[in-house]
Amino acid sequence: MKKVVIVGGGISGLAAAYTLQESKAQIEYTLIEKDARLGGKIQTKYDDGFVIEEGPDCFISTKPSVIQLAQKIGLTHHLIGTNDEHKGTYIYSDKRLHALPEGLMLLVPTKIVPFALSPLISWPGKFRMGLDFVLPRKKEQEDETLHSFVVRRLGHEAMNKIAEPLIGGIHGGAPETMSLKASFPSFLDMERDHGSLVRAMLAGRRKAKKRKPSPREGIPKSHFISFKGGMGELVTTLENKLEGQVLKGKEVTRITSTDTGFRVEIAGEEDILADGVILAVPAPQAAALLETIDPQGADLLHATPMASSATISFAYKSREVPQAKSFGVLIPYVEQTKMNAVTFTSVKWNHRVPGEEYTLLRVFFGGAKKSHYASVPDEELLGWAKEELSSILGITATPERYWIHRWIEARPQYTIGHLDRMQELTERLDKTPGLVVAGGSYRGIGVPDCINDGVKGAEEIIAYLGK
Ligand SMILES: Cc1cc2nc3c(=O)[nH]c(=O)nc-3n(C[C@H](O)[C@H](O)[C@H](O)COP(=O)(O)OP(=O)(O)OC[C@H]3O[C@@H](n4cnc5c(N)ncnc54)[C@H](O)[C@@H]3O)c2cc1C
Repeated sequence: MKKVVIVGGGISGLAAAYTLQESKAQIEYTLIEKDARLGGKIQTKYDDGFVIEEGPDCFISTKPSVIQLAQKIGLTHHLIGTNDEHKGTYIYSDKRLHALPEGLMLLVPTKIVPFALSPLISWPGKFRMGLDFVLPRKKEQEDETLHSFVVRRLGHEAMNKIAEPLIGGIHGGAPETMSLKASFPSFLDMERDHGSLVRAMLAGRRKAKKRKPSPREGIPKSHFISFKGGMGELVTTLENKLEGQVLKGKEVTRITSTDTGFRVEIAGEEDILADGVILAVPAPQAAALLETIDPQGADLLHATPMASSATISFAYKSREVPQAKSFGVLIPYVEQTKMNAVTFTSVKWNHRVPGEEYTLLRVFFGGAKKSHYASVPDEELLGWAKEELSSILGITATPERYWIHRWIEARPQYTIGHLDRMQELTERLDKTPGLVVAGGSYRGIGVPDCINDGVKGAEEIIAYLGK
């Protein structure tokens, strides 16, 4: 029997462990997690009937890995989609709330009339966006920032009022430093293949209409999906399925090479000798553990900056927040507010509050451009939220309860050169067979990407140990 150690019990490590287990390869594994609980950034808190998401609150349904995993572990009956009868997101711009125009796909308008009628973008701004049809495509395919790409194709107004709040919000990132190739490679393909983003989106829509949707019985149709009990259900269900050894509250402090594999040192525990190691931890922690085996590989990992963010969930009496009727509000950086966004959690999702008399909101601070906001004291953060919920949304009621969560240096930033660094890291790690890195810092930040990466890491180890 071969032995594999998985360091990190976030969704990447859990997916890797489950893949090893299901492979029926002659492999036994130990999963080691520093915290007392598994899940990493997936943290769902249950409090008097409130379901509070402190990390991700959903996943995108077009990437199938979460649904496939849910099917395997018998969790499909708990999948839920968004309440699309309340669909709609607002952008706070020039001190007013503007509905995001219907037909906007990511940041590209695909329906002319709603876009033309929307006051969000000025007429010169709309004209500039329209130039996307005629501007030549870029010849060279080298990496560029999201900011440079959007400004080049659609102009500054589209960048500041649409792309930055929409896309920056997903990544907690700064468009000025984000690598387009690493974060949104499809945009580059669209430009290359169609010469225009709008044309590409329209073609994509036509294709999607023609394609017969594959039957997905019991799978919600919405673009974003979660679980009745929150994202944490994915973690607890997976944990219950694991048959290997799981050590919680134990930190891996050092990994060294031996003649036959690796020595894994764990604080307060005996060392483990392993034939394979999956480092399913964020880049800074992976760098620290890689240091003794491959210092240059560790340097490549150190080059991934981490941003900080904080969220506050507020529970109100529903009658006191009649403003909560859509999915929420995004606030562009140029508005110079403290908050980045507000989600009307219990409007967007069912099963998040103990009864209709309550409404749950979630407010976001921080991200790459405002990371320092994530560390201000509770009182100050609450004061900012109160002030801006009032000035932006007219919410003046006192919340019944609130929950604050901080994510310090927790959100990896895929900056220019990220893909090259990851490629170089892969080539370096090929020289240390049996050692892989997996997770949100490397090949995609979303929960579906992390599952894919954990599965891929486990498959590589299975292939290597099976030789
Ligand atoms: C506020 C927020 C909102 C988000 N929203 C979304 C969303 O809506 N949809 C979406 O798809 N994605 C979202 N994401 C991104 C997504 O949640 C993460 O990318 C993903 O959960 C990362 O999983 P992971 O397993 O790679 O890493 P992590 O979840 O970071 O897990 C790594 C684990 O390794 C452990 N660890 C670290 N060092 C050691 C060590 N030395 N020894 C032992 N254990 C160690 C850590 O304690 C941690 O549990 C969000 C992220 C945040 C922070």
